Amino acid sequence: MKSSNKKINLLELSKERIVSWLEDHQIEPYRADQILKWIYLRQTDRFDRMSDIAKDIRPLLDDHFAISRLQIENIETSKDGSRKYLFKLEDEKFIESVLIPERDHYTLCISSQVGCAQNCRFCLTASGGFQRNLTKAEIVSQVRDIKNDLQDSMPLSNLVFMGMGEPLANYQNLVDAIAVITDSSLGLGFAGRRVTVSTAGLVSRLADLGRDTRANLAVSLNATDNATRNRLMPINRKFPIEKLLKACQQFPLPGGRRITFEYVLLKEVNDSFEDANRLAKLLRPIKAKINLIPFNPHEGCQYQRPSEDRILRFQKILIDKNYTVMIRQSKGQDISAACGQLAACGHRP
Ligand code: SAH
Repeated sequence: MKSSNKKINLLELSKERIVSWLEDHQIEPYRADQILKWIYLRQTDRFDRMSDIAKDIRPLLDDHFAISRLQIENIETSKDGSRKYLFKLEDEKFIESVLIPERDHYTLCISSQVGCAQNCRFCLTASGGFQRNLTKAEIVSQVRDIKNDLQDSMPLSNLVFMGMGEPLANYQNLVDAIAVITDSSLGLGFAGRRVTVSTAGLVSRLADLGRDTRANLAVSLNATDNATRNRLMPINRKFPIEKLLKACQQFPLPGGRRITFEYVLLKEVNDSFEDANRLAKLLRPIKAKINLIPFNPHEGCQYQRPSEDRILRFQKILIDKNYTVMIRQSKGQDISAACGQLAACGHRP
């Protein structure tokens, strides 16, 4: 973020913190609402543009606070129209976000950590290891800045935490960021049902997430037996499939909603028809829908994508058992922006 060291980035602060600072400086608390509207609704970065705030207050704010943006290092556009943003953070680390055009809206896929500690065997982000959590401001700014950059009448309405990192491993910053992102009067105004948090299965945080946000839950299941899942996703040794699915069963779902189960299809690893049948059985007690993600290859990874025919047969078994099953045709493969391909490659310090 571009801010000098002594100034505090206002995007890090809650409304309560801003109010208490204002009161300490004998300024009316309602100014906090005005400031937040300038930042999030009108996308202002400068206090001297905040025309409804008294002229003598503006320089005082400017002395103490910054309204920072992420530094856009690069933007790549795919043949299919999706755009990958590479951001350089203040400590020279890099993260990526992917803007995906759908029929009548954009979906933005954002990161929650620099790198990832989960070490899932098929995911490129894992190969760089874990570096650090993103701050609340760094999470919110991916959305605020890309919204600001978007010169299009088609709205950016959907958000998925499916970029780099395990969102539930950065819990407090995630929840604080979602609060701003879904605040309709003083924040970015996304509907809770249009925000999806995807997890590798950090069971210890699922109940918290259901209590603290109105976001959708997506769970990367990726296997139907513990031996296979242990191999693919080390987190399964701590939270095996039974524990994960029990926590999903208890997850509070607002009316009509379902939990999305993501399932990366890996040739001859988890793509058998027994797997499809087992998956159907496992998910039976849960209000579930299924997203099949054919493996996106990346260099140095041993796995392969199953044939188109096999993918469709896997899907059909689940459809015949009355599941809603999407095959996620990952966008942006030509620019390494597809699922499991985000690593800010070549930009590691
Ligand atoms: N850590 C979170 C957020 C990342 S989401 C999670 O695990 O859910 C990224 C999604 O892409 C996950 O469902 C993951 O299983 C999937 N994925 C990772 N690598 C992939 C690859 N190479 N091909 C296809 N999907 C992949």
